[in-house]
Amino acid sequence: MKLGKYSFGVGDRFGHQGEAQLRALMKANAKGIEIVPVWNKSNREHNTIHSEPAETRIEADAAVKALGWTGEYRVDADHINLTNVDRFVATADFFTLDVATYIGNPSATEDVEAFISSCKALGDEIKIDGLEESIVITDDLLKKVAGKFLEAVKEAGKIYRHIESVKGKGKFITEVSMDEVDSPQTPVDMFFIMKMIADAGIPAQTFAPKFTGRFNKGVDYIGDSAQFAKEFEADLMVLDYAVKHFGLPENLKLSVHSGSDKFTIYPIMADLIKKHDKGLHVKTAGTTWLEEVIGLSIAGEEGLKVAKDIYAKALGRKEELCAPYADVIDIDDSKLPSVDEVAAWSGEKFANTLRHIPGHAEYNPNFRQLIHVGYKVAAELGETYISLLEKHSEIVGACVEENIYDRHLKRLFDL
Ligand SMILES: [Zn+2]
Repeated sequence: MKLGKYSFGVGDRFGHQGEAQLRALMKANAKGIEIVPVWNKSNREHNTIHSEPAETRIEADAAVKALGWTGEYRVDADHINLTNVDRFVATADFFTLDVATYIGNPSATEDVEAFISSCKALGDEIKIDGLEESIVITDDLLKKVAGKFLEAVKEAGKIYRHIESVKGKGKFITEVSMDEVDSPQTPVDMFFIMKMIADAGIPAQTFAPKFTGRFNKGVDYIGDSAQFAKEFEADLMVLDYAVKHFGLPENLKLSVHSGSDKFTIYPIMADLIKKHDKGLHVKTAGTTWLEEVIGLSIAGEEGLKVAKDIYAKALGRKEELCAPYADVIDIDDSKLPSVDEVAAWSGEKFANTLRHIPGHAEYNPNFRQLIHVGYKVAAELGETYISLLEKHSEIVGACVEENIYDRHLKRLFDL
């Protein structure tokens, strides 16, 4: 099973926007760029919403059938590990093996020795096109990278083989992710991670590193975009080398976990994948959920009331809702409007404050980040929330489609 060159991960927390999301991808396809839709939902999201992975498969299949999509599509068991993968095994065909927490764990001495001796064949120095400096291989460097990543890759191997034992070889797509950590992996780190992944026999088709800069939930990239561009390009070259020399799958590509919206760096990635003719996977999650709240806020009085209610409750439970995302949100409390203030807003004002249009006078990234992590509040509203989504499916679906096509795909694929 081989993932197409370009793919886009659409998270859908409440499972109601599959068709709207697929419409956006089909629009890109109609423009001549084939992008594989991938419905991703993490174990954490399932636990918060109280949903089951099988529902994501049902949603994807239904959207594909309703719109007559005949192309490839996938269902991604996002950020899974050995403790929770089993609930996804039957219905997913894309698995994101999250081994970030194993980074830095010590390895057995014999594992480190085996890695070091397997690197002898590389010689003393590796020159990779596009990398400013060559990689000078020393025992110290090998020990250092083994100390950081060897145990994590070993764990990825265990998860991979567990899935393979159930689904069979070649019956699913494998991603290895190390993005949910503080310190970024350099292109040199990635070079050795690829060597380890190849040695471990994991046929990874995508790899999600932690890039330089902050990837906060729901808002734009914060960091040095020139540095990002330099590293992203070097990463592309490292993967190219890994395919040619380590025997990894020829369609191996970078996976960017966007934390929903990274508009500043989308055109940078678009330029570089075009320049080097490389594939790309971008994984979004909460951006669709935010469009649901935006859609409801402009759908009339009862929708606006629920949208305001979600904000009021999220504000009251800020600590609790932010806790699981502590590393990936930065909310300035002084810039959060009070509940009374929001109560007086029109639907337009609410939508403009929440909608991610950089430079819009009313857009407030603090407000947006809080609602981003507030989907638990909507989950607790249960039927009240879901029935409104269904009642206003046209207006909400239009928001979802426009967001993915106009704000994401256009920037990412230069449409
Ligand atoms: Zn991630």
